[in-house]
Amino acid sequence: MIETRELVHRYGDEESPAAVDGVTLSIPDGEFVLLAGPNGSGKSTLVRHFNGLLEPDSGEVLVDGTPVTDDLVAARTRVGMVFQQPRDGFVAATVGADVAFGPENLGLAREEIDRRVEEALEAVNMRDRRDERIDELSGGERERVAIAGALAMDPDHLVLDEPFTGLDAPTRESVVEQLRSLKESGTGVVLVTHDLRDAFALADRIVALADGDVAVDASPEEARDRLPELGIRVPPKRETPREEP
Ligand code: ADP
Ligand code: MG
Repeated sequence: MIETRELVHRYGDEESPAAVDGVTLSIPDGEFVLLAGPNGSGKSTLVRHFNGLLEPDSGEVLVDGTPVTDDLVAARTRVGMVFQQPRDGFVAATVGADVAFGPENLGLAREEIDRRVEEALEAVNMRDRRDERIDELSGGERERVAIAGALAMDPDHLVLDEPFTGLDAPTRESVVEQLRSLKESGTGVVLVTHDLRDAFALADRIVALADGDVAVDASPEEARDRLPELGIRVPPKRETPREEP
């Protein structure tokens, strides 16, 4: 469970506008949340608090009831984070070594590390590519390695910040498929996106931010009518077939 309580984040001094302005939100384990909102509405700032990459100016963030600032390691073990266009976020030269890095830092046994790396690569359809160099991969393949790296930590929640940016349609579909199987296996997903069409059907809940606060928090069907006024595109409603006269 991820919880924020009256969370406020400013990038400047007290006079500066709050990028996140009093957000109170609970995300239970296993829930698939789409986090939407226009550019600059505070999405990236908010999710960076979920595992302690930023510190609150006021309010608090709890993971499984413990303030993130009290136990960063626990928060980072439970909440995995995948950033947009992970070009520079890799720590090792090869796919396998990069995915192994997180579990190695947890101090796990070698066999457990190997098992996790194998499973994580399997989950993103890159099982046979352990020894390939990351700098020779396409953008979509790097995205999948980044997802595998987060999965190898076996998190309760996987947070992805705009993972579709720069990906072509087939690669987006393949990432959506991976998210679908994660959801089926019980991993919670928080998917940050300004365009809901890719993953609308997977969502249990849609949270939309505007000016650093929650503007909509509803089921996909309820949210559908309220999102366009925030400038967020939604997939068209499926037409119900007309009855023949
Ligand atoms: P989103 O992810 O929804 O586009 P962000 O969380 O990136 O929104 O940004 C929220 C607000 O904070 C915006 O006004 C943005 O300009 C500002 N902001 C984001 N990152 C920084 C930063 N590193 N320094 C200063 N201001 C920032
Ligand atoms: Mg962002």
